[in-house]
Amino acid sequence: MNSFEELLKRQKTGGLQEIVDAAKKASSYGDGFKDERFWRPTVDKQGNGSAIIRFLPARDQEIPWVKYYEHSFKSPISNRWYWENCPTTIGEVCPCCEQNSLKWTAGSDELKKVASSRKRKLHYVSNIIVLKDPGNPENDGKVFLYKYGTKIFEKIMSTMEPDFEDVEAFDPFNVFTGAAFKLRQKTVDKYPNYDSSEFSQPSELFGGDQDQIRKTFEELHTITEFVSPSSFKPYNDLKKKYFEITGENDTIAYNQPSVEAPRIPSRPQPTQQRTEEASWVSDIDDSDEDLEYFRKLAAES
Ligand SMILES: [Zn+2]
Repeated sequence: MNSFEELLKRQKTGGLQEIVDAAKKASSYGDGFKDERFWRPTVDKQGNGSAIIRFLPARDQEIPWVKYYEHSFKSPISNRWYWENCPTTIGEVCPCCEQNSLKWTAGSDELKKVASSRKRKLHYVSNIIVLKDPGNPENDGKVFLYKYGTKIFEKIMSTMEPDFEDVEAFDPFNVFTGAAFKLRQKTVDKYPNYDSSEFSQPSELFGGDQDQIRKTFEELHTITEFVSPSSFKPYNDLKKKYFEITGENDTIAYNQPSVEAPRIPSRPQPTQQRTEEASWVSDIDDSDEDLEYFRKLAAES
């Protein structure tokens, strides 16, 4: 937040052009809401892009990533997006997962398809330093947050627990013993695909230069906020929004006598588990910029 003096100074000296430029820049991103802490690869018209990044430790916890679930789908009924963090991340009941479970259990292919399109998607967030960003060279050397999916997480895990005995394990988040990551994004069947990405040979960041490493550490972002309870809306608020957007309601029985009507818990029930949970856990990497844009649209509507 700017102080009054700063604000006053800016109001007196700031030109209109500055604001116009900012507005143009914002619209060229497709939205005006970009979270500047996050880095995203730049892709060409075919949806391909590459960059060299290096994963870094977290500022505020030992584990260098946080993991959370999210739902994002557009309802043809309301033409609106349901784009919300999934409370199962923190062990609480999620209305969307609950409704997916009912649809899945009801058994018809059509309902399963709907449930599948609304399944929770897994995201990870870590700190990174951008080593080479051909699409945005001004990012080189800067520390960002990076949101990624299961495919990249598997590549990270395989460095720590290699599949083969003759491959030496390393910690990719370590600035001394870790390694650069060659991120290669392609678009396959409309989805970002990271199969060709790979880690380089382990090496010290900045050749072990203490000053540069200290500067990098000072720029690290906190990550615990993405899994803090305040990042998840209350059950009843989510349920209301879910029904508004999907046009569904509590009385739908899915014509299956064996299916119970959805329950409305008065408070979250952390012990409640989905039986076929794995069925709607997505492993699609979909953390691209367009999605962030749609997220904001969803928040606005
Ligand atoms: Zn959920």
